[in-house]
Amino acid sequence: MSPCPYCQCPEVYVAKVEDGMCCVACPRCSMGGPVSVDGDEQEAVHAWNSLCRKLCRNCRQVYIRRIIELRRRLQQEGKSV
Ligand SMILES: [Zn+2]
Repeated sequence: MSPCPYCQCPEVYVAKVEDGMCCVACPRCSMGGPVSVDGDEQEAVHAWNSLCRKLCRNCRQVYIRRIIELRRRLQQEGKSV
C-alpha cells in the first residue's frame, strides 16, 4: 500500500467506517482515502493507491495559477469599464 500522500506515513491501514463502508486511513495525520461503499477492502486500497502522489505541490500550483489568472482577468475587466 502506498504511504500517505500528505505526511508520507507508511503505517496506513484499512479502516471500517459507518454502514459497512471502509477506506484507507493514516494514523499520523488522520487523512482518509476514498471510501469503498460496499466495504470492499481491495477497492479502498486501489483507490488509495491511485490518489495523486504529488497532491501538495502540483495541485497547489494549479490552484495558485488559477487565482493569478482570475485576478488578472478581473483587473483587465476593471480597466476596460
Ligand atoms: Zn498522513
